[in-house]
Amino acid sequence: MTLPYRRVLLKVSGEALMGDGSFGIDPTVVKTIAADVAEVAQQGAQVCLVIGGGNIFRGVAAAAKGMDRTQGDYAGMLATVINALMMQNALEALNVDTRVMSAIQMSAIAEPYIRRRAVRHMDKGRVVIFAAGTGNPFFTTDTAAALRASEMECDALFKGTQVDGVYSSDPRKDAAAQRYDTLTYMDVLSRDLNVMDAAAISLARENRLPIIVFNIHAPGAFQDVMRGKGPFTRID
Ligand code: UDP
Repeated sequence: MTLPYRRVLLKVSGEALMGDGSFGIDPTVVKTIAADVAEVAQQGAQVCLVIGGGNIFRGVAAAAKGMDRTQGDYAGMLATVINALMMQNALEALNVDTRVMSAIQMSAIAEPYIRRRAVRHMDKGRVVIFAAGTGNPFFTTDTAAALRASEMECDALFKGTQVDGVYSSDPRKDAAAQRYDTLTYMDVLSRDLNVMDAAAISLARENRLPIIVFNIHAPGAFQDVMRGKGPFTRID
């Protein structure tokens, strides 16, 4: 069955790569996600990825301990490059042609981000991993995901997280938390729901980019959710 999307962006938070750990990367988790991405790509959808860095370094957390915020943010962006290389490795092990494009130039390990070139890679069936966030401090990889998805004219932004959608409160702490099937961008902004930061939601809203939040850890979750198989929360 063909997939109902032509081109999509998958955002994977750094946290999702930790597995059962509290820091760093669990290669088994990376492999499982890569296998899911590989299947979607093999079924003919064009896929690009943005991977967070929170499993290694977060600028805000470092600033809370006295580090200069911008310096911490640059370290956070470098963390996303480490994750991107891990994901590239896992995808290539599955024979998926992959390119890492970095918002901060580091020509020895990644191509510089050039929009037209990224589109061309995807047209050729390559999975493009966008690394180093937006390249600017004070932003997040969620905003980078909304930005790149808009630039690439993706049909949707899939946000793979640890929970299967957006809840009224944190389901890990509150047994009465309820999952929403659908939300509007304004719902997310006005109720301050913990999905993505306001910059990311505003960008998606301006560009009419649907956001689909789902649990990346369920086996085959990405391909299922692309076919509309829940659970997930759709924001548009
Ligand atoms: N970051 C940044 N600019 C960006 C994207 C990321 O400065 O455009 C930094 C920021 O310090 C952030 C860290 O990189 O905390 C890791 O990204 P993020 O927290 O978005 O990762 P995730 O929560 O998805 O793991």
